[in-house]
Amino acid sequence: MRVIFIGPPGAGKGTQAQFICDKLHIPKISTGDMLRAEIEAGSKIGQAVHDLIAKGQLVDDKTVIELIKQRINSKDCDKGFLFDGFPRTVKQAEALEEARVKIDCVISLEVPDQTIIDRLSGRRIHLASGRVYHLQYNPPKIPKQDDFTGEPLVQREDDKEDVIRNRLKTFHQETEPLKEWYQARLGKSKGYFAVEGSGDIKEVQKKIETIIKIASPWGIGGGH
Ligand code: ADP
Ligand code: AMP
Repeated sequence: MRVIFIGPPGAGKGTQAQFICDKLHIPKISTGDMLRAEIEAGSKIGQAVHDLIAKGQLVDDKTVIELIKQRINSKDCDKGFLFDGFPRTVKQAEALEEARVKIDCVISLEVPDQTIIDRLSGRRIHLASGRVYHLQYNPPKIPKQDDFTGEPLVQREDDKEDVIRNRLKTFHQETEPLKEWYQARLGKSKGYFAVEGSGDIKEVQKKIETIIKIASPWGIGGGH
């Protein structure tokens, strides 16, 4: 099963990806997490992308496409994967198509811009795993600590109001056209699904699980 989550920053892609990946036993591939790991490691890529990410602009297509191509060659992607935050431009989607990476299901999480600021200003993350929390809507068991490792949670540098506004603008300009692009290729409610993402976390999870059941050749929790 190869799944793509599309949605504005803060739509709940990472949150919902955790549930789906656990159920389907597939890895979550987040280009955002990968790029933050490069920054944390102080690599050449990390140094090149730091300022762009801090400003809320997209990293160049070539860099992300290269990262993705390497990642999906790993053994753990044999049974599928979930892309969270990739592709983010039509160019990136075309690169997948050219590489003959077949996608089974694209889920667009639809959340209005007003909700995004509230969600992102309360977001805290565990950097090493990409696990996501929210001070109010999804708090960790012990304040400021990751539930699994006890390590400190951090606030992302780009989760500040002015940067969030830039990221939303970028989403509408660069990423939103992908909805039409995938709908035309996969068919509405066949391989392409739009999900209202402004309900609470459990509510959205249920909707996504229903879609995965329709789109999955194995069924959720089923065999491989
Ligand atoms: P994305 O990966 O799309 O940027 P996240 O999954 O990181 O979004 O969610 C953004 C923030 O909103 C996080 O702090 C998360 O805990 C919270 N969140 C996610 N889904 C919901 C929801 N349905 N209702 C309220 N808060 C949510
Ligand atoms: P995310 O964690 O998905 O919110 O991504 C954080 C930031 O990383 C984005 O605002 C972009 O600057 C960069 N980024 C992540 N994924 C991509 C992508 N597919 N293409 C370009 N830039 C990306």
